[in-house]
Amino acid sequence: MTTVPIDDPKVLRHILANTEALLLDFDGPVCSVFAGIPAHIVADQLRNVLSEGSHHDLPYEVATSADPFDVLKYAAALGTNEVRYVEATFRAYEVEAIATAKPTTGAHRLIRAWSLSRRPISIVSNNSAMAVISYLELHGLTSHVTQVSARDTSDIELLKPNSYLVDKAINMLNVVNTKATLLGDSTTDIEAGIIANVATIGFANKKGKVVTLTQSGATAVTTSIASLVDLL
Ligand SMILES: [Mg+2]
Repeated sequence: MTTVPIDDPKVLRHILANTEALLLDFDGPVCSVFAGIPAHIVADQLRNVLSEGSHHDLPYEVATSADPFDVLKYAAALGTNEVRYVEATFRAYEVEAIATAKPTTGAHRLIRAWSLSRRPISIVSNNSAMAVISYLELHGLTSHVTQVSARDTSDIELLKPNSYLVDKAINMLNVVNTKATLLGDSTTDIEAGIIANVATIGFANKKGKVVTLTQSGATAVTTSIASLVDLL
């Protein structure tokens, strides 16, 4: 088994130097979306939408999950209308959450520094495009980000770990995949990046993630976005 470098400045500097297009996952590397409106409250609201549609007996994992994406996935299994309603409600909460989303230390500096280096940067996110765009506007980052490749339909099959959003960003930025790097904090980011054949940097923003991101096959792992700015 190959070892994945963790917080290795030489490796990270090398990856970034060879990166033409930086693909940034949103929730995690850029900000904590649900810092002000906790994700479990949003998950509850999405369960309410299902319950209004007479879906009361949810599987235990869905009924107790604090992750709105789990409810969204379940809604997709129920049917087209269910996922449409749940996705629309989720989108509204995501946009509302942006006002109280907490920027990740160093993230805005990374975005500005990357744009100063005249290389393209895309936000590649399972969160709604509307929420990502609102965040960039709120923080004066719109002109620094080349493109947003995020959830814009209720077809959740297209979300990461599917490589669709990554492929879309690469196409929009007109770069070759081997010159792109996806920076994300979930194993689904790494999986999508591997399928899209881009380099991947796992952002371990919680203790256990060093292990999960390493095991999912990230090219390298960092525990700090701020430290990457100094490596550009
Ligand atoms: Mg994330």
